[in-house]
Amino acid sequence: MEPDLNAVFDLVLRRNPGEVEFHQAVREVFDSLGPVLKKNPHYADEAVLQRICEPERQIIFRVPWVDDEGTIRINRGFRVEYNSALGPYKGGLRFHPSVYLGIVKFLGFEQVFKNALTGMPIGGGKGGSDFDPRGRSDGEVMRFCQSFMTELYRHIGEYTDVPAGDIGVGGREIGYLFGQYKRITNRYESGVLTGKGLTWGGSLVRTEATGFGTVLFANEMMKTRGESFDGKRTVVSGSGNVATYAIDKAQQFGAHVVAFSDSSGYVVDEAGVDVGLLRQIKEVERGRVSEYVARRPGATLVSEGSIWDVPAEVALPCATQNELHEDHAVALVKNGVKVVAEGANMPTTPKAVQLLQDADVLFAPGKAANAGGVATSALEMQQNASRDAWSFEHTEERLAEIMATIHHNCATTAEEYGQPGNYVVGANIAGFTKVADAVIALGVI
Ligand code: GLU
Repeated sequence: MEPDLNAVFDLVLRRNPGEVEFHQAVREVFDSLGPVLKKNPHYADEAVLQRICEPERQIIFRVPWVDDEGTIRINRGFRVEYNSALGPYKGGLRFHPSVYLGIVKFLGFEQVFKNALTGMPIGGGKGGSDFDPRGRSDGEVMRFCQSFMTELYRHIGEYTDVPAGDIGVGGREIGYLFGQYKRITNRYESGVLTGKGLTWGGSLVRTEATGFGTVLFANEMMKTRGESFDGKRTVVSGSGNVATYAIDKAQQFGAHVVAFSDSSGYVVDEAGVDVGLLRQIKEVERGRVSEYVARRPGATLVSEGSIWDVPAEVALPCATQNELHEDHAVALVKNGVKVVAEGANMPTTPKAVQLLQDADVLFAPGKAANAGGVATSALEMQQNASRDAWSFEHTEERLAEIMATIHHNCATTAEEYGQPGNYVVGANIAGFTKVADAVIALGVI
């Protein structure tokens, strides 16, 4: 790394001890920035790196709630308002027991660059809680969301900070959060949250957008080599919202999707995944992937090893951070993988990324490939601001245009900086320069 990058990275380590995911995310971006700092030394003079690494505001709060047995539970809530140079803070809320400040900071940091890449006027932020929704009743989830919003409401607003979903936060949770915000403020402020239900201010395609966008981005990458999804054996990790709609869109493009997963293991379905059944189990029944196997003849659940042992030409990690390690990358390459596109945030470890790139695999980093979700959130804000509701076709067309533009931007930036085909470098530099220029333009604030 360049001297200035090293100095700032040391500062990040000292200021944020133990936050390993955050360090990893910063390091990953810094590793791409050498050429851009050389070309534009004023970024160093303006202390842009320090300003981009230090969140504008970090909020940690207590979330008390009462479970169905009458026991008082205390969780921790977070909102990291990372950077608002390009627009109001924007980014999801994650409810998962692994959530602590380091996870929220890594996600917020990624979000800043991702949001910049969308070309939409949104800054970056992220939040969440160590609350575990698994096994909780509907009433418990509602009471938790209401308590969470009873603190969060004072920090958010359509011009300030606009949360949405992430792992553990879907339409149901956004409903409870929005209801409580509306009750406390006595304002029907649709633009304060995205991922809303269709009858109360939500946007068509928002549910599908992250998974659809990941496949659209992968498709753009494949086009550069005269390839397509048609007939390609595809493996998608995860079985949540992102994975489900990545499978759906890949199948629409003619892919043969044979595996998906959850924390209990992975399912192999050589006949091709039945998305209707998967949606019924996950979205309607809130069940586990074992249910799929019980109802689908020929499908098997494997609870040892890794989904990345399943041979595939296209691999779409759509579960969670650091789920695809070096050994997995070795197995994928050995089995002839051609494309890896990240639907999740930072699912591939740095060594695995290096390995895939060295093997000439087309690799799309999450901050570019999964930006369709937040981009469609921005389209939801646009519809809310104009009190309008667009058709599915129009919204999906906008999403497709945005993904093609992000792809073009990453590809041309990588080329400009002498690394054609390196989407990691392209995404990091394109995202960074956009944010950095705005940070400088707005003065020392
Ligand atoms: N959580 C999603 C992401 O990682 C979406 C955020 C949003 O729509 O604001 O980008």
